[in-house]
Amino acid sequence: MNQRLPKILKLEQHVADLIAAGEVVEKPASVVKELLENGVDAGAGVITVEIAGGGMKYIRVTDNGIGIAPEEAETAFLRHATSKLSDARGLEAIGTLGFRGEALAAIAAVSRVTMQTRQKESAEGIEIALEAGKVLKKSPVGCPEGTTIIIRDLFFNTPARLKFMKSDRAEGSAVAAVVTRLALSRPDISVRFIKDKKQEYHTPGDSRIDSAIYSLLGREVESGLISAATSDDTVNVKGYVSKPSAARGNRGYQFFFVNGRTVKSQLLQTALEQAYRNILPGGRFPSCVLYIESGLNTVDVNVHPAKTEIKFVSDKQFYDGVYYAALGALDKYQRQGEGSLVSPPLSAPVNASVPVSQANRPPVSAPMRVAEPRQIYKRQPENYPAGKELAHTAGATLTPATPSLLSPEPYRVIGETMTMYIIVEQGENVLFIDKHAAHERIHFDALRKKNHKPMSEALLTPIICRLGHEDTAVLLESAEFLDDLGFTAESFGEDCVAVRYIPAEISIDDVEQTLAEICEKLRQSGVAETEKRDSIYKTIACKAAIKAGRSSSQNELEKLAEKVMCGEVTHCPHGRPIVYKLTKTTLDKNLGRV
Ligand code: ADP
Ligand code: MG
Repeated sequence: MNQRLPKILKLEQHVADLIAAGEVVEKPASVVKELLENGVDAGAGVITVEIAGGGMKYIRVTDNGIGIAPEEAETAFLRHATSKLSDARGLEAIGTLGFRGEALAAIAAVSRVTMQTRQKESAEGIEIALEAGKVLKKSPVGCPEGTTIIIRDLFFNTPARLKFMKSDRAEGSAVAAVVTRLALSRPDISVRFIKDKKQEYHTPGDSRIDSAIYSLLGREVESGLISAATSDDTVNVKGYVSKPSAARGNRGYQFFFVNGRTVKSQLLQTALEQAYRNILPGGRFPSCVLYIESGLNTVDVNVHPAKTEIKFVSDKQFYDGVYYAALGALDKYQRQGEGSLVSPPLSAPVNASVPVSQANRPPVSAPMRVAEPRQIYKRQPENYPAGKELAHTAGATLTPATPSLLSPEPYRVIGETMTMYIIVEQGENVLFIDKHAAHERIHFDALRKKNHKPMSEALLTPIICRLGHEDTAVLLESAEFLDDLGFTAESFGEDCVAVRYIPAEISIDDVEQTLAEICEKLRQSGVAETEKRDSIYKTIACKAAIKAGRSSSQNELEKLAEKVMCGEVTHCPHGRPIVYKLTKTTLDKNLGRV
């Protein structure tokens, strides 16, 4: 019983740094993010990022900013050393990207660092080299104005972390995504990204949002955008949102910047998507590059060590800003019937601004809505007797058929109705089978079987899917799993994959969206692996299943009916019942025969 916990001691600086490093420096992309932000905070107009081996082996970030004084070079690597914040009051209104004074210390703790830096007024600069946080060397050096930091062998002294790293390709893609976001956030800075000696991007730094978008995301994305802007006394929004026709199967191209900082925000994402809710069908997402400016004291950026999350003092004002900016842009685009990409320079006042009151009007037409099945429904009640009985019929007496309701009696497939339901007669009952749901279930069960061999179809010309960096990386990481599904996808540039085989039952038009949906699911964190797989199987099954609205051959109907009638499938993968039974008693009652 005299066992005690060891004495409480203050952690050695080195150990404390290692612990903090775990929060700030998660992977090469987080190193690059911090170094880029330091370049921006130093007022650089030109920044170059170079990586090799996915950033695990080598990262170089060079900026032409203000540099660091020789006597401060070592201090910069101390934990909580920052020139950007001097007292707690400063935390209320942070105007720089960095402020926690943690990044350099954290990075140095887990790598080999060399920094060369020179301030404008100094004749010579200083070079400092560190390994695992310890200074190895400090000496004067001749170097250009600004700062170059080279990081080698990231996590060489933290083998546990090293194990979590993905392939060089995946880590490299994550770095590319970080560079893209930062370069988009500041079209006034020329950003160059070199990967394994090859230049991947180069933005001109001419302050034009459209040239940054073009350089980073490509012509196709740029031409699918329309300018959007709105402002009130607190929040000023400008940038671009996508034309409805340029919607994508994922959210990979939704970029939000708040006061120059790239942020992830569910609130802003919802605001954007709400503006499209009557325009886009489910599973299609708008893209955007939106710059939101607001007083520094209206946001709290100090909620996460990586500073990507943000809290708004007034959610509503930010929500409205994004919502009305998008709504106004869509409204204008649809009234004009065309979308000219007017490019306001970042530094200019907002000229395409739409006053909130004017934008607050429901979006015009809904071109992509699938109206067909609904129209059939609407016409149907007219053929029925008066309202009361109809309500009765549609309600309690129509019972979902569970296996116990299905009898082994012989049955006859009469045909289909509404290009949606198979009509089966069995004894004195009529059964309605949801064709799509049944088919979906059969597929889902097949995919779930352990030794399921997918039927793949080779494509003569591969389909190139532009999924964005993150999704591309995610997909390539899961190549084996995709193979099990019947897809073969290869890397095709930074943010695209080339698809050479697809599951036989998936239509070519659905490939990109299906892959995007798969990525979205693969990316989900906190979800058990089997649950993820099931959810992906559902996606595939749904895409492969015969669509409602397409009529099927008698043979097809018979086959589906057979699986249902033998009780093999009862509910679709989403849990909806597949069969409804209409009994003679119900019919008799409703037609006044009893
Ligand atoms: P923070 O950015 O949060 O202040 P960092 O650890 O990233 O913390 O950097 C510490 C300090 O080092 C900064 O406050 C800044 O004064 C200096 N510094 C870092 N990188 C650069 C750079 N590229 N140019 C000029 N100064 C820099
Ligand atoms: Mg910093």
